[in-house]
Amino acid sequence: MELPYDGSRPVRYACAVLADCMPGALPLDPFELASRAGILMLPLSQVENYPLWVPYDIADSLRMTSAVTLSYPTFCIVFRDTERDTDRLRFALFHEMGHIFMNHYRDYPETMGPARTADPALEAEADAFALNLMAPVPIVDVIRYNRPRQARASLFGLGRTAWMRRLDTMDRDRAFVDEEMANVLIYVFRDFLLGRRCAACGKTFRDESQTGCCPFCGAPDAEWTLS
Ligand SMILES: [Zn+2]
Ligand SMILES: [Zn+2]
Repeated sequence: MELPYDGSRPVRYACAVLADCMPGALPLDPFELASRAGILMLPLSQVENYPLWVPYDIADSLRMTSAVTLSYPTFCIVFRDTERDTDRLRFALFHEMGHIFMNHYRDYPETMGPARTADPALEAEADAFALNLMAPVPIVDVIRYNRPRQARASLFGLGRTAWMRRLDTMDRDRAFVDEEMANVLIYVFRDFLLGRRCAACGKTFRDESQTGCCPFCGAPDAEWTLS
């Protein structure tokens, strides 16, 4: 079954999850977001010790990816805790959360699950969800406009390839972000975007008035901390 790909869905869902979970800072922490959303995350090393988990060959399912979602014996995301590439692991975890948040397991049980053949449209949707969650178009736009040199893959916790894909899909996804949605996202990351460090006295503050002036010593042109 090939499902039609609706590009607006992953963008809308990513925005809704950010509005609900209010992560605040970049790069997003998948474990913190999962805990706020009530999603159970289990390291493979722990799962391997339980005989109950035999129905799947989880280690085999994890050969091509760093994370997989299981619905039995409990609904959870199992991840390869020996994965050294943290960008790869982070993206894989948000991809799996995309399947969960967009109800792929509920709506397409026949195509989901570790032993099934993946549906390209659902996989593309989960990838687009992860990108729009980790690097939402309005936030990338604001940072690229104001501090182009800081708008890099590492700021969003993306690997090089994923960051290239983010940049390639900016125009497509921007079409699905209306002004209200953009304002919600700016609000979610408000503290992060307003964080400044004074180059003169070294103090950090929130630039509420957006003047760039240090409230402690009055020096102009405070730097964006983006952390
Ligand atoms: Zn997937
Ligand atoms: Zn100062």
